[in-house]
Amino acid sequence: MARYRQSNVAPGESILLSVNLSEQLLPGTFEHMINEIIGTIINISIFDQKYKNDKTGASAVPPVVLLKLIIYSYFNGINSSRRICKLSQENIIAKALTTDMSIHWTTIANFISTNFEEIKDIFAKVLMFCNELGLIGGEDFASDGLRLPSNASIENSGTKEQLEKRLEICRKMAEKHLERHLRKDKEGEIDEQKQEKFEKRQEVLRQRIEKINSFLSGMEDKIGKGGQALQSNVTDNESAVIKSPKGFIQGYVGLAVSDKKNQIIVTAEAHGSSNEGEHLPGLLDSVVENMEAIGRPLDKENPPRILCDANFSSEDNLKACEERGFEAIIPDCQEKRRLDESGVRKFDINDFKYDQTEKQFECPQGKPLEHKGSANFRGKEHDIYQASAKDCKACPDFSRCTWSKKKQDEINQGRKLIIQKGKEPSSEGSLCSKMRQKLSTEEYQEKYAYRIQIVEPVFANIGYCKGLDRFTLRGKKKVNGQWQLYCIVHNLGKCVKVYNERKRCA
Ligand code: SF4
Repeated sequence: MARYRQSNVAPGESILLSVNLSEQLLPGTFEHMINEIIGTIINISIFDQKYKNDKTGASAVPPVVLLKLIIYSYFNGINSSRRICKLSQENIIAKALTTDMSIHWTTIANFISTNFEEIKDIFAKVLMFCNELGLIGGEDFASDGLRLPSNASIENSGTKEQLEKRLEICRKMAEKHLERHLRKDKEGEIDEQKQEKFEKRQEVLRQRIEKINSFLSGMEDKIGKGGQALQSNVTDNESAVIKSPKGFIQGYVGLAVSDKKNQIIVTAEAHGSSNEGEHLPGLLDSVVENMEAIGRPLDKENPPRILCDANFSSEDNLKACEERGFEAIIPDCQEKRRLDESGVRKFDINDFKYDQTEKQFECPQGKPLEHKGSANFRGKEHDIYQASAKDCKACPDFSRCTWSKKKQDEINQGRKLIIQKGKEPSSEGSLCSKMRQKLSTEEYQEKYAYRIQIVEPVFANIGYCKGLDRFTLRGKKKVNGQWQLYCIVHNLGKCVKVYNERKRCA
C-alpha cells in the first residue's frame, strides 16, 4: 500500500516564512503586469498635485501603491475598502504589490472616492496602452449599460409630496412612541433596559425626521421629459429609481462603449438615470475624443459602426450618430416582434400612413382607419383609430396586421390603432424608418448580430467575474470614478496575454 508524507502544518495553522516579496509576482500574471506598468508605462503623476505635505504633515501612502492594490482587489472581485485593507495585510501578492506597506481602510476609501478626475486620466492612459498593444480595431463599436444599485435606499425616494407625507408619518410615529412610553412609565413598567431601548428608537426617529426635513427645505421636484415629477432621493439625490432585471432599484446605470476587436472599453460613464438612450450623444462625443487622444481619429471615408439595443433607439440618437460620423445600427423596440415564426415581417404602426386632411390613417391595403374618439390610458390621452370589420375580414394580410394570436382567431372587429397624442409615427423619410428598412435586410441583421459579442462579454466580465453587483459610493462623480476603475481593470485584463507575448519577443 502506498505511503504518503504527512504535512507538518495543520489546516488553518499559520507559519513563519522568509519571503522575497518581488518573487511572489509570477511573470505572465495580471499582478506582475500591473506591477510593471503602473507608474512607469502608465504615468500616474497626476495624483502628485493633490499632496501638499512636502513641508508639514505625515508622509502619505504613494498613489502608485494604492492604485496597484485597488486594481488587483477589483480584479479579484473585492471592492469594499475594509476587505481591500484586509487583503493587503493577509495576502502575499497584495503585500508584494504594496511592498508590505501598512494602509488603513479609510485611506483606500478616500483614494477611490476623491480621485474621480484622476481616474478619468488613468482610463485614457490605459486606453493608450491598449492601443500600443494593437488591441483596438476602431471599426465597430457597441454600447450598452449595466444597471446597479448604489449606496442609497429606495425607501428614501419620493416626490416632494410623497416625502412630505413620509415626514408626517415619522413625526406621528415618534409622538405615539413617546406617549406609549410615558403611559408605561406611569404604570411603573419601565426598567433601565426599556429606557435605553426607548432612547435609541427616539434617536433613530429624530435623525430620520431631521434628514427628511433638511432635504425638503431646499428641494424642488425633478421634472421628467413628459413634464411629470420624478422621485428624488434623500440620501443620494443624483441616483435614480431604475428598472433593472431584478426589479426597481435605487442606483445608477454604468454605460460603456466597447470596440469589436478585443472588447476594449473606449469610453465609460455612469448616470443616475433610467433612460440609457438619452446619454448616447455624450458617449459618442467621448468616443471621438478618446480615439483622437490615442492617435486613432475616426475614419470619415469608412465611418465606424455603432451598434446599440432598442433602449437607444430614437430619431435624435440616429441623428447624433450621423453628425458624429458613425453609421448607426439601432433597432427599435418592436424589431424582435416584427418577424413571425416563418420570418414574415408583420405590419407595425409605421406601415400606416397618416392623412392630415382627412385626419385618418390608411392601412397597407389602402383601407381607411377612422378616428373613433379618445381615451385615457395610464394617465395619458390617446387617439383611437379603427378599420372596418368588413375590410379586415376580407383582408389577405390579416395575420400580418394583427399581432395578437387570439384576435387572429376571431375576426369580429376591424384593426385598431391606439396612439398617444403627440406621438404620431415617424414619417417615411425619417431616420427611424430608414433604420427599419435597413434592418429588414439580411446584411444589416448579420451586422447587428455582432452587438452581443462586442459588448455583452464586457458586462459579464465586470458584473459576474469581477463581482460588481452594486456601487459602494454616493454621488454621480464618485460613482462614475468607481465605474471607470472597473473599466480600467477590464481593459488591463485584456492586455495581459499580448503584453507578455511582446515581452517574450523583445
Ligand atoms: S387587416 Fe384591416 S387594417 Fe390591416 S391591412 Fe388588412 S384591411 Fe388593412
